[in-house]
Amino acid sequence: MSFSHLGLSDKVLAAVAATGYTTPTPIQEQAIPHVLARRDVLGIAQTGTGKTAAFVLPMLTILEKGRARARMPRTLILEPTRELAAQVKENFDRYGAGQKLNVALLIGGVSFGDQDTKLTRGVDVLIATPGRLLDHTERGGLLLTGVELLVIDEADRMLDMGFIPDIERICKLVPFTRQTLFFTATMPPEIRRITETFLHNPEKVEVSKPATTVATVTQLQVPAGREAHDKREILRSLLREAKDLNNAIIFCNRKREVAVVYKSLQKHGFSVGALHGDMDQSARTAALDQFRKGEIPLLVASDVAARGLDIPAVSHVFNFDVPHHADDYVHRIGRTGRAGRAGTAISIVTSIDQKSMAAIEKLIGRSIPLAEGSSTTSSSEQAASPRHERARDSARDGESDGSRSGGRKRRRDRGAGNKSRSRNSGSEQSSVESVAAAPVTPSAAPRAPSIGRTPTPQTPSASAEPADHSHLPAFLLRPVRARV
Ligand code: AMP
Repeated sequence: MSFSHLGLSDKVLAAVAATGYTTPTPIQEQAIPHVLARRDVLGIAQTGTGKTAAFVLPMLTILEKGRARARMPRTLILEPTRELAAQVKENFDRYGAGQKLNVALLIGGVSFGDQDTKLTRGVDVLIATPGRLLDHTERGGLLLTGVELLVIDEADRMLDMGFIPDIERICKLVPFTRQTLFFTATMPPEIRRITETFLHNPEKVEVSKPATTVATVTQLQVPAGREAHDKREILRSLLREAKDLNNAIIFCNRKREVAVVYKSLQKHGFSVGALHGDMDQSARTAALDQFRKGEIPLLVASDVAARGLDIPAVSHVFNFDVPHHADDYVHRIGRTGRAGRAGTAISIVTSIDQKSMAAIEKLIGRSIPLAEGSSTTSSSEQAASPRHERARDSARDGESDGSRSGGRKRRRDRGAGNKSRSRNSGSEQSSVESVAAAPVTPSAAPRAPSIGRTPTPQTPSASAEPADHSHLPAFLLRPVRARV
């Protein structure tokens, strides 16, 4: 099957050819003809499947006819995060280069005035996060009554972030007769209810099971003590020892932890950036751009900030924290091993993470081996401990990045991109790390490099970690390989 059989316009086909893509991905092959036939579509697909182009390409074809009117966008795309919204815009810029379309982004952290000016000029494609969109409609600067096509992307993520009430409000502001394209990786009951309410006789397109990890990714776990500084030391060792590490995303469960790990790696001479929901938009974009261009090889990130980001060719993913929910593991791991490439995903696992690891192994249908030389009991063996469970639960009562722990809380991004919440991190904050006492030189750390450090101005001040002179376990001094 080639793109030319899908019914796309010549202009769009030329733009696709210019990107070098020759064959549609399964979601594109299945969804594009339905979108062009103006049917509602329920797409069950993860990021990485080519789902963005599955709606962008037919939208470009549809938009070739007609003109935008002031303050009345013709199409609307809802995204859960600013990064995803920006990424969709990049897709329009790339594939729509030959067309004179007005594409506007309405995301938090950017001035209302500039966004207003764009809306006044008339917008063919409006890409928005729900909170900022509603702010504009409430101010009277935006009318959704001209929307012919509505895309709700990453709907299950919207649910996690508490955006479903906003989505319901928005759906009532756009005409009943619009076409709706709805994408989600999973179908929890609340999402099913939304699809039943707001989609009209949709074509269902499902491309892969939501909970699968790709076979090209080597997955390993490394046991760790429960102290955060132990984990940071292990992380540094893993970074130094990892084979073929070109770049890596290091996931933490909490924004505060992102800041701490970022600061710690920076102090130890690693070239690193940070990405989390409390950084302002320009800092997030700058960190992401630098990482994409390879200017910084390491990115410490939270789930919400990193979900769905299109960063090709990430060689390694590290779970500094084991995610609270097993499907977050699948999403994290999905950042590497994309498009058939090899990748490595290593999770640092403390005793209180055992139950989560067991849930992950159950979800992905395989056990995750220990890195060579490490030893502990298996996740499932340790998972049963009620003490572990209690400790884990209390540890998780803290701040999270809007992920599922702590309930489905409402986190709208209304104009609040700059509210960087600098926080101390408890006792860790009190002791000051002595870099001299725990030196990491570029020669000792071939992958930790260039002292040229990455400016990430909005990163909350993080704690310095205590100087820890304890010896590393022997296994950490060896390259990481799967145990056979
Ligand atoms: P997405 O699922 O939309 O995040 O897309 C994942 C990646 O696949 C992006 O890097 C796209 O540029 C790429 N991609 C999209 N469509 C195709 C295609 N037909 N062939 C190869 N790569 C593609």
